[in-house]
Amino acid sequence: MALYANIIIDISHEKLDKTFQYKVPERLREELAIGMQVEVPFGNGNRRNTGYVVELSDTPEYDISRMKEIAGVAKDGIPIESQLIALAGWMRKNYGATMNQALKTVLPIKRKTGEKKQRMIRLLLEREQAKETLQMFEKKHHTARARLLSNLMEQSPLPYEMVTKKLHMTAAVIRKMEEMEILCIEEKRAYRSPLGEMKQSGGRIVLNQQQQRVMERICNDFSAGERKTYLLRGVTGSGKTAVYIEIISRLVENGRQAIVLIPEIALTYQTVLRFYQRFGERVSILNSKMSAGERYDQFERAKNGELDVMIGPRSALFTPFSKLGMIIIDEEHETSYKSETMPRYHARETAIERARMADASVLLGSATPSVESFYHAKTGAYVLLELEKRIEEKPLPTCYTVDLREELRQGNRSILSEKLQQLMEQRLNSHQQIMLFINRRGLAGFVSCRACGHVMKCPHCDVSLSYHNNGNLVCHYCGYMERAPKVCPQCGSKYIGGFKAGTQKIEEIVRKRFPEARVLRMDFDTTRNKDGYEKILSSFANQEADVLVGTQMIVKGHDFPNVTLVGVLAADLSLHVSDYHGPERTFQLITQAAGRAGRGKFPGEVVIQTYSPEHYAIALAGKQDYEKFYEAEIACRALMRYPPCGHMLVMMTASTDEMTAMLCIELLAKKIQQAQERGKLSGLQMIGPADAAVAKLKDVYRRVLYFKHPEYETLVQMKDVLEQFICRHREFRNVTVQFDFDPVNGF
Ligand code: ADP
Ligand code: ZN
Ligand code: ZN
Repeated sequence: MALYANIIIDISHEKLDKTFQYKVPERLREELAIGMQVEVPFGNGNRRNTGYVVELSDTPEYDISRMKEIAGVAKDGIPIESQLIALAGWMRKNYGATMNQALKTVLPIKRKTGEKKQRMIRLLLEREQAKETLQMFEKKHHTARARLLSNLMEQSPLPYEMVTKKLHMTAAVIRKMEEMEILCIEEKRAYRSPLGEMKQSGGRIVLNQQQQRVMERICNDFSAGERKTYLLRGVTGSGKTAVYIEIISRLVENGRQAIVLIPEIALTYQTVLRFYQRFGERVSILNSKMSAGERYDQFERAKNGELDVMIGPRSALFTPFSKLGMIIIDEEHETSYKSETMPRYHARETAIERARMADASVLLGSATPSVESFYHAKTGAYVLLELEKRIEEKPLPTCYTVDLREELRQGNRSILSEKLQQLMEQRLNSHQQIMLFINRRGLAGFVSCRACGHVMKCPHCDVSLSYHNNGNLVCHYCGYMERAPKVCPQCGSKYIGGFKAGTQKIEEIVRKRFPEARVLRMDFDTTRNKDGYEKILSSFANQEADVLVGTQMIVKGHDFPNVTLVGVLAADLSLHVSDYHGPERTFQLITQAAGRAGRGKFPGEVVIQTYSPEHYAIALAGKQDYEKFYEAEIACRALMRYPPCGHMLVMMTASTDEMTAMLCIELLAKKIQQAQERGKLSGLQMIGPADAAVAKLKDVYRRVLYFKHPEYETLVQMKDVLEQFICRHREFRNVTVQFDFDPVNGF
C-alpha cells in the first residue's frame, strides 16, 4: 500500500529517466501496482495524460503540497507495455538494479526519427523494351536517363535515396521517366523481414512416436488450461527442434504467439530456415548484429500482430507479444542466458515469470540440462519429458578416454595421442571428416618463463596475455597488445614462450603430422570479421576440408553428417575454472562435442584426452551418463550449499581508485556483520571481501563479497537494505556496486 507513485508519461527511450511523482488517492492504494496504466493531470494546464506506474514508495521525493494526485486507472484494456514494465519491476527486485536499468532492458529503444517510409524505384519495362529504350536515350544523349535505366536493368527495385544520393539523379529526371512509364515509385515500409529472400517450402516432418508423445502432452495441458514449465531432455539429434515447431504450429492455430530463445552462436541459417519454412513471413529473428533501430522495427512488427514467432538470443524474451502462449528456451544450460550487465537476470527464471504474467507455458530443452533445471524437474517444480533415442535410432558414438600422463610416460609428447592419430589416419583414408576441439582459447595461449615461472599479464586487467602467431601478446578482455618478449622481464632468461597449445598451434601440428589433410580453423581470430563464422561452417559442410579445429564454437548445434571422429584435446581445461560450475561445464562440453560425431550414415567415435580421467565429470561424460553425473554433482552442491541447494549473492564494488573499491566493500561487509551480531540474518554465510576473479578490468579495480543462504528471498531483502545504505553514504559516490544472484559467469 504505497502513498506515492512514480509515473513515466512517455515510454520512448529518451525519456525513460524522466519520472514524475504523484500522490496515490486513498481509493487506489490497494490496487495500484507497477506497470499499470494511469491517468494523471500533466503540465501547466493539467491536461489529462496517460502514464505508467514504474515505482511505488512511502516517502515523497519533494514537497507534497505541490504534488498532484493520480486521477484514475486507465480503462481501455491492458497494453502489453504494462506487462513488460511489471516484469521490469520484478527483475529490479530480484536481481538488483535501478528501475531505469530494468526498463531499458525490457523496453525496446525507439529510433529517434520514428518510423520512416522507404521509397523504391522499380523498372516497369521488359528486357527487350528496356534495351531499345536505352539505345534511344543514348542516341539522343540523354545521359542521365540512360544511366538510371542501365542501373535499373542490373537491379530493380533500387532505393530512392540511393538513386538520388549515390547515382546523383535529380528528382526531375526520375519524375520524367515515371511519366514515360519506364519506372514507378513505390512506398515500402522501412522495416522488413531480416530473413531476406529465404524460400518457404512446406515440407512437413511427421513426428515419430516419442516426439508425438511429448508434443501431445504439452498441447493437451495447454488446451486444458494448465500452464507449466517443462524440461525436455533429449540427446542431440533426437528431434527437439521438430517438436518445438509442431507445438508452435498448434498454438498459432489457436491464435497464440511464441518466443524461441536460442544461443546466438546456434542461430544459424540452417535453424532459422527450418522455422521459416513452416511459418514464412510470420517468423522473425533478433541478433546482436542488428542496430537498435532494426531491433525496434522487429518489436513493432510483433506488437502490430504481424508475427507469430520470434527467435533470438536472451533479449528476444521481451518481444511485445500480447497473446503469448509459449516461451521455448533451447540449449537451456547455456551460460549466455544469464545477463552480464545490470540487472543480471537469468532468462530462464525471467521467462517463467513472464509466462506467469501472460498465461503462457515455458519449455526448456537440452541434451545436458543445467543442474539447476534438472533439480527442479526432479523435485516437481518442472515437468520432466524425455526423448531417449536419436532420430532413426542412430547409435550414440563410442568414447575412448586417453590419459595424457600415460602418453607422456610412453614418450609421446604430441598434443595428439596415439589413439587419436591412429583414428585420424583411418578417417582421412576413408574420406570422412574429423573435428578437433579445445575448450578454451585464452587459457591455452599464455606465455610463461620456464626458468622462473613468470606469466605475461595484461597491465590493465590481471589476466594472462595470449600469444598470437604474428608475435604479439593480446589481452582478450581489453584488447591491450604488446610484442612478445625475447627474454623474461623478470629474470632475463631466454626460455620464455607460449608452449601450451591454442587452436593455431593445433592447426600447425595437424598439418605437420598429416600433410595431405585439408585443415580449417575456427576461433576468435578466424570469425572476427562478418560472415567468417558462416563461411567456415559452410565450407566444412561442403567437405572442402577434412579437419575442423576449433573452440567451443564448433560444438554447438551443427549437423555435419560426414563427421565420424571427434577429438576433445584437453578435457580438463574447463574443470578448474574458478567457480563451482567447472564439472558441469566440462560434462556439458564433452557431451556436446561427442554429439557431433556420427550424425550421418556411419557411426561415430570420440577420443577424450585428459590429465584427470578419474574425475567424475570426465569419466561419466565418456559414458554419456547424465543421470549419474547429476547425482554426483548435486551431492557436491548440497554439501557446499551451492545453487540449486541454496542460493548465492555476489556483490562487487568497482572503482578506478583501488582504495575506494576496497573501503566500500569493507563497509558493506561490516554492515552485514553488525546485523548478524544483532541476531539477524541467521543462516547467512559471508565469504570475503576478496579480489574479483578479474581483479582489475580496463583500469577499474574490482572487489567482491560472497553470501550464501538457503532462501533466495532473504538475500533479496538483504540487497534491498544494502541498496538504501549505499544511497545514504557519500563514500559510495565514486564506486559502482553490482549485484549478482546465483552467479553463472562471475565477475
Ligand atoms: P535436435 O534439435 O534434438 O538436435 P532436430 O530436431 O534438429 O534435433 O532433428 C535432428 C534431425 O532429424 C534433423 O535433420 C531433422 O530434420 C530430423 N528429424 C527430426 N524429426 C524427424 C522425424 N520425425 N522424421 C524424420 N526426420 C526428423
Ligand atoms: Zn623468468
Ligand atoms: Zn586487458
